[in-house]
Amino acid sequence: MDILVSNCLLGAPCRYDGGAKPVDGVIGLCSRPGVTAHPVCPECAGGLPIPRPPAEIRDGRVCLESGQDVTDEFEAGARATLETARRVRPAFCVLKAKSPSCGRGRVYDGTFSGNLVAGDGIACDLLVKEGFFVTDEKTVERCHPTMEHPVAICLGSGLGSVAR
Ligand code: SF4
Repeated sequence: MDILVSNCLLGAPCRYDGGAKPVDGVIGLCSRPGVTAHPVCPECAGGLPIPRPPAEIRDGRVCLESGQDVTDEFEAGARATLETARRVRPAFCVLKAKSPSCGRGRVYDGTFSGNLVAGDGIACDLLVKEGFFVTDEKTVERCHPTMEHPVAICLGSGLGSVAR
């Protein structure tokens, strides 16, 4: 089974602050026999450096706190991530919650004040529109390690998105 996964969840230091967000449940899932993980980092794929200033989505645009618009880079990274997904045809995707690229269902509201609003990150949105199943590390953590079939359990949780 192939899984597309945010690289920071596997421990890669690719976040805006130069850090990682390793999650045991995700690493455990990706280490299971028969599972092939395909790490992606949309923001890196879009040409953004590590580290980089934080960005948030507001009114459909992605901007830094300074107001600089980085939507083009985020969209380029999203397209590259979609190309990877089309190539590997993952059973599902595990993307980092709340990220302006990877977030599923809730993202920061663009005010850089920690508030969340309903919505998907730019890369997540593209994957969902293409019909890929996307969930986040929180759902995987809840499922791990008892899940028999992660997709079924993610669907049953009410999180994630449409099945392919
Ligand atoms: Fe992690 Fe996604 Fe941000 Fe890359 S773009 S650091 S994979 S949350």
